[in-house]
Amino acid sequence: MDTFNHTGDKTMFKRNSLIQYKGGGYDGCFWEQNYAWIDARGHFHNIYSSGYLGCDTLGKLKAAYVNRPSDCDIYCLSNPAEAERCADETPISHLLGIAQWLDEHAPGVILQPKCDECGERFDGRLGCGDDPHGIGGIMQEYRRLLCPDHADAFDMVEA
Ligand SMILES: [Zn+2]
Repeated sequence: MDTFNHTGDKTMFKRNSLIQYKGGGYDGCFWEQNYAWIDARGHFHNIYSSGYLGCDTLGKLKAAYVNRPSDCDIYCLSNPAEAERCADETPISHLLGIAQWLDEHAPGVILQPKCDECGERFDGRLGCGDDPHGIGGIMQEYRRLLCPDHADAFDMVEA
């Protein structure tokens, strides 16, 4: 179970968990990934929420999880396997933002994605997106994520 169940409350999230869920919901059916963090003390933090489906409180997040469980993904980052899954599944632009956010708000919690050039895992805070392309509207996504070594290599001018 993806639940922390001391109290019998099935909507309690594990500590050190990143919750990805479908937020947004503006005109029409546009939605986007939103993120929340449950810290080491079990406290809720809103990393990014948008539109009427966004959850800026723990209560709203619990309601989203109960009502739309298939729209939520929970990564307990204390668990190395889940931290890897999170680093591998999260869109690059979001991953870079979350890595920065965690650096400021949850010191010691580090996502380690794979570099698309060398295949090695590295500290996601130092990652660099490459080859941006539009994915509709004003949103942009990167096709590749590079470790600092390879991001630097791409900046060099060929002689
Ligand atoms: Zn690399």
